[in-house]
Amino acid sequence: MKKFPIKIVSTQDQDLLQVRFFPTDICNFNCSYCFPGSHDGKFRYPKDLESTLINFRNVFDQYKQIGKTKFHLTISGGGEPTLWPKLEDFCKGLKESHNVFITLVSNGSRTLEWWKNNYHYFDDVTLSFHHEYANIQHHCDVADFLYEKELKVTTLVLMDFKNWDKCVHSIDTMLASKYPWYIQTKEIVDAPGHGMDVYSEQQKKYIDDSIKRIPAGDRLLKQLNDIKIHQSVVLFNDNTAEVARPHTVILNNWNQFQGWQCMIGLESIVITHDGLVNSSCGVKLNGIEPVICPKTDCTCQPDTHITKCII
Ligand code: SF4
Ligand code: SF4
Repeated sequence: MKKFPIKIVSTQDQDLLQVRFFPTDICNFNCSYCFPGSHDGKFRYPKDLESTLINFRNVFDQYKQIGKTKFHLTISGGGEPTLWPKLEDFCKGLKESHNVFITLVSNGSRTLEWWKNNYHYFDDVTLSFHHEYANIQHHCDVADFLYEKELKVTTLVLMDFKNWDKCVHSIDTMLASKYPWYIQTKEIVDAPGHGMDVYSEQQKKYIDDSIKRIPAGDRLLKQLNDIKIHQSVVLFNDNTAEVARPHTVILNNWNQFQGWQCMIGLESIVITHDGLVNSSCGVKLNGIEPVICPKTDCTCQPDTHITKCII
């Protein structure tokens, strides 16, 4: 009998809502593999901070009614968030009204001075490393500084198959940094010309073994929540189960959920540049209700770990 998944159960806490916010579509980099629409400069960033805060608070209050008491807000790249002049005031304002844990995703390019002035607004920082534009020494300096300030800091190295050796060499350079911050690889998929099929088997193995360095001792404990969020338990038709790590579902080609019931709007929402509440996969949300997946492939790694089942 062919073995196939029939249910995926997220390991994220039940009372937690993941919120990904893309505050801007401007960026100071111009990566060749950038996801279409990510740095077009059409929306720039929210102009009216007060209205933005009111809208976020209203959304969080609605979710509180269904038992969500903790909000993990990821201020995402796809656009460079640190270019939004009100970023710091926004973080401060939301933390005053709700139980919000803030992760900032940034290309890390702002000056060390900027990071020194602003690091305390964030609970953790993910620095995406883009080999075409990033300065490796500056990247390491920023990550070392954040680590020194006891922030949870992760570097995510985008693995460009066309410049594979350069990406691997960047990781080798990072491994010699002053502090042992977390280093992880990330595949580039779902942009024109970039799917998993462009990688060789050896490259796929390198990406699958994604964690290239973990922090030592008690610093590792701070990463555990992330690990819980980016994994799930996969149940199969033969009554077996397997823990899926970040890449497991995509790499095994288990990510076809068309017709499945998916809890995307109850576990994770996205607020886009234009202020709309959406799903990260682009599927129209059904209020705070499950959706039936209309897509042939679930291509975004975190989305593959949302709770879903065959119906
Ligand atoms: S840093 Fe991110 S948003 Fe900016 S161009 Fe590169 S991939 Fe696009
Ligand atoms: S594509 Fe969207 S709706 Fe479909 S399974 Fe993935 S997260 Fe759920």
